[in-house]
Amino acid sequence: MSDCIFCKIISGDIPSNKVYEDDHVLAFHDIQPKAETHILVIPKMHVVNLMSVTDEQWPLVTHVLQSIHKIAQQEQLEGYRVITNNGEKGGQEVFHMHWHILAGSNLPGF
Ligand code: 5GP
Ligand code: ZN
Repeated sequence: MSDCIFCKIISGDIPSNKVYEDDHVLAFHDIQPKAETHILVIPKMHVVNLMSVTDEQWPLVTHVLQSIHKIAQQEQLEGYRVITNNGEKGGQEVFHMHWHILAGSNLPGF
């Protein structure tokens, strides 16, 4: 989507500090980290959030979760928290589905 900030990161129009990439997923450091490690994991396909996932798109969600597992291994995280905000009332600010990986000494509460 042309006005989506994460689609612009995928296309390279907005720079990001990349952590992991494959054909379907991109992961990069959050611009305003809320923990020592704060990585965002997004599908390359523009999907708004879990509430909008269609039957055909659920395998993509599984793929994103498998990518999170790989990224945690790659980054040698000893433990981590995964959060995905869904909808305005769920605290979502960027309407391109994403998972936050949070890890390290100053993990925020929730
Ligand atoms: P949400 O509240 O939608 O779950 O989280 C959106 C996240 O995207 C926030 O943690 C915010 O800091 C991050 N973010 C917003 N714009 C950018 C950007 O241009 N680059 C990066 N790397 N992160 C961003
Ligand atoms: Zn998008």
